[in-house]
Amino acid sequence: MTFASLGLIEPLLRALEALGYQTPTPVQAKAIPPVLEGRDLMAAAQTGTGKTAGFALPLLQRLTMEGPKVAANSVRALVLVPTRELAEQVHEAIRQYAEHLPLATYAVYGGVSINPQMMKLRRGVDVLVATPGRLLDLHRQNAVKFSQVQTLILDEADRMLDLGFSEELRDIYAALPKRRQTLLFSATFSDSIRALAGQMLDNPLSIEVSPRNVAASSVKQWVVTVDKKRKSELFIHLLKKQRWSQVLVFAKTRVGVDQLVDRLQGLSINADGIHGDKPQATRQRALDRFKAGEVQILVATDVAARGLDIDDLPTVVNLDLPIVAEDYVHRIGRTGRAGQTGEAISLVCADEVELLSSIEVLTRQTLQRREEPDFIPEHRVPATDASGQILKKPKKPKKPKTGGGGKRNLGKWVDSGETVAEAPAAKPVRKVPAFNTGPRKRKP
Ligand code: AMP
Repeated sequence: MTFASLGLIEPLLRALEALGYQTPTPVQAKAIPPVLEGRDLMAAAQTGTGKTAGFALPLLQRLTMEGPKVAANSVRALVLVPTRELAEQVHEAIRQYAEHLPLATYAVYGGVSINPQMMKLRRGVDVLVATPGRLLDLHRQNAVKFSQVQTLILDEADRMLDLGFSEELRDIYAALPKRRQTLLFSATFSDSIRALAGQMLDNPLSIEVSPRNVAASSVKQWVVTVDKKRKSELFIHLLKKQRWSQVLVFAKTRVGVDQLVDRLQGLSINADGIHGDKPQATRQRALDRFKAGEVQILVATDVAARGLDIDDLPTVVNLDLPIVAEDYVHRIGRTGRAGQTGEAISLVCADEVELLSSIEVLTRQTLQRREEPDFIPEHRVPATDASGQILKKPKKPKKPKTGGGGKRNLGKWVDSGETVAEAPAAKPVRKVPAFNTGPRKRKP
């Protein structure tokens, strides 16, 4: 199959050729024809599947072929995204696809001054990529009008709800023209996403593509069990021992990010961090330097790193497991892209057993456990499996005799099928839900 056979016009084909896209990805093959026809769409697809081009290419074509010229302070298509980084990334992709088209594109998001954005919107913009809060601010100040909006795209809709944007989405929805095309992309379809879709979409076509990285199993995944207080130490140990060239590390909190970065920098390890407390320019610079290979270790919170397109990343480490199981899939989706193999290592402590179980249920696999001889935890992590069972009360490990501690398989990964074997063959104590919706927070 080719992009031409999907009915795309020549200026788009030329842009795709320059980008080296040869064959449409599954989500593109499924989405492009119906979107060109003007249908509403509900798509289960996440970053890494090529979904951005899946909605942007037919959108740009329709905007070129149909409808009036954009008026002052107006927009013809709105792409709503959860985070600033994603806004920049999606806009950059759209800008490249629209290279040979007479369309104006722009991105707006919070955390930066609103005035330049208001100025830029004066002449009107064909495609506006926006985070919901800033878009509403601009709308309330009459900097942007919605009367010309012919297409609305909700990208990573699940994450927008996770971040507490449902009220903003409702307000935006209320201000939009009733006749329009709406496309909704989401990694998961919870009841709240279905309710949102029911309200916003008109007889939508549903499409689904499996997450590329997990399905392709090009990512080797392990868990290393460890006591909570020794996680940073274990990370540094593994970094040296495994000679990781470049690592994206996920931590649960902003403080966690800063602490690990400080510790690494204190050891003269080239590390930087991104989270929601940092100014946008600093976040972007850290990311650009990481992508350019100038930074070896980038430590991030989930929201700051969501949707980031970083190619050829060999290693992802979860210093902490994510609260929301789906984020595990997003995190490890940063590696093993484009046919490369990657590895994703999670450092898991006893407190995180339920999170681990939720991830195993969601990904339908029991993650292989390995132990690091010098770091065998005092608080054992109970055995888990893909059925959601958590086997309580594993036996306490024997204390290592020497400071080095590693009588067993010194210097090697210890494959702890033994952790499972040590656990009593007890009844399952609890089933955890398919995924943990966890506490919601507004900012990364
Ligand atoms: P996305 O899922 O939209 O974030 O896209 C993931 C990555 O795949 C981006 O770097 C895109 O530039 C790239 N990509 C998207 N579609 C194609 C394609 N048909 N061929 C090659 N690369 C693609």
